[in-house]
Amino acid sequence: MKINFLGAAQGVTGSCYILETGGHRFAVDCGMHQGNAEIEKRNLNMDAYRPGTLEFILVTHAHIDHIGLLPRVVASGFKNPIYATPPTRDLMQILLLDSAHIQEMEAEQQNRRRQRHGNKQVEPLYTTADATATFPLIQTIEYNKPFEPVPGIRVTYRDAGHILGSAFIEVEYTEEGKHTKIIFSGDLGRPGQLILPDPSKGNGGHTDYLFMESTYGDRDHKSVENSREELATAIAYSYKNHEKVIIPAFAVERTQQILYTLFLLDQEGKLPKDMPIYLDSPLAIRATEIFRNHPEYFDDKTKALLSAGKDPLSLPNLRFSQTAEESRALNTMTGSAIIISASGMANAGRIRHHLRHNLWRKGASIVFCGYQGEGTPGRKIVDGAKQITIFGEDVAVAAKVFTIGGFSAHAGQAEILQWLKSFDGKDTKVILIHGEVKALKALSGIVHDQLGMEVHIPSYLEELTLQPGKGMVPVVDEAKAAPSIDWDFLLSDSQNLFAEFQKRMALAKAKPWVAQTEIRDRFLDLNRKMVELISEL
Ligand SMILES: [Zn+2]
Ligand SMILES: [Zn+2]
Repeated sequence: MKINFLGAAQGVTGSCYILETGGHRFAVDCGMHQGNAEIEKRNLNMDAYRPGTLEFILVTHAHIDHIGLLPRVVASGFKNPIYATPPTRDLMQILLLDSAHIQEMEAEQQNRRRQRHGNKQVEPLYTTADATATFPLIQTIEYNKPFEPVPGIRVTYRDAGHILGSAFIEVEYTEEGKHTKIIFSGDLGRPGQLILPDPSKGNGGHTDYLFMESTYGDRDHKSVENSREELATAIAYSYKNHEKVIIPAFAVERTQQILYTLFLLDQEGKLPKDMPIYLDSPLAIRATEIFRNHPEYFDDKTKALLSAGKDPLSLPNLRFSQTAEESRALNTMTGSAIIISASGMANAGRIRHHLRHNLWRKGASIVFCGYQGEGTPGRKIVDGAKQITIFGEDVAVAAKVFTIGGFSAHAGQAEILQWLKSFDGKDTKVILIHGEVKALKALSGIVHDQLGMEVHIPSYLEELTLQPGKGMVPVVDEAKAAPSIDWDFLLSDSQNLFAEFQKRMALAKAKPWVAQTEIRDRFLDLNRKMVELISEL
């Protein structure tokens, strides 16, 4: 068995593993790479995917970092089945259309700029039509029902308890007469999460290889109950100050968990009766509808509430803002309110408007309740930035910032270990994926020391050979995986620019005083950016 790591290897985005055995070639997940321009170039590298030669794709769950590249792969020649659970199929449809819409808008914006500069036009990564062409390929799979996508490869989906419909996937095959089992954890949920059942366990079963997600491999989360209390504190704080509570939240799962939590707070009498709650995200509104359509995937507690006639996803004060006008109206509305909007990392979407209008207000609360990726505005605020740039404008951070870890849909370190221990662990080799380097290293040490398992941390574009009964053989083409960066050229270039500026100082000084102050301010701005950069090294 050969495995190619096309993403989420020493990183968290672009999950995609291509497997080759017995003349078959197929993928587990096909996520979008997100990050800086260099990382996002990976989305265009279809030579690595060779879509026309993939026989099928197994999808763990509907998050964009696991499905976001499917339309591109389909547009590049993939015509075969995509397997997913029924809720995953439904969520995929709204999320891929949303993603296609974002791609189209971004290309349009870029092209307007390029046109002004006389540059060549760019194509979107994929279009709404490409996303729509993906849907007929999806075939639904139920949990715990093994199937054979091609003869000799047996696949079973199990409930991963991460988001609605999420799965971890078992792949079984025989090579050189040896039966082998590989498990892909997908993104693993946590026990006790609202709405969803706890993740299925290994039940002492054996697996030869376990591909383990490591997002929170270096830390634990607080409990769900703690998080409910923290949210209540944020609400009480801003209610007292007649200000707003702004909650950046992913449209799928996180938003529904927050609604559920607000429902519980309401039951406990901790939600002010005259504090409206706005769900300001058309995508989150549609996702909530999909949740309602699949109550059979809820946990027993939620099912019991529903059969008692209570709906934990609806509240008397809950209002939906569908249109842009409705969303804008929230900016000028006075008084206290709770606003839930996307994106969860504040790097896109309507939430940026709410932050621009509230971040600088003393008495307001900003409640982060999910993973904040490196380089995002969300991460900067959580890390204590005093000022944030939104729509090109510097906005002071005066609101109270709450970071509530207990809503995470990912298992924390202790929960990952607990889950790994539910397998027999005999001769199991663990491959750590879907994590930043710090988390991977921390988890690797613990899995090796506490569970005595062999651990491997693959890198992007690595090809790993799994030989029955033998060790793992990784091969990386460094030149392709991490093209070298010409730092010397860059540094000498900026030194030349600085020398040129010095040379023209006399010209600057000859300008009128007001023009000089402007040049000085722009120079100070450059210096400020340089200081920022230095402090991050
Ligand atoms: Zn996920
Ligand atoms: Zn993920």
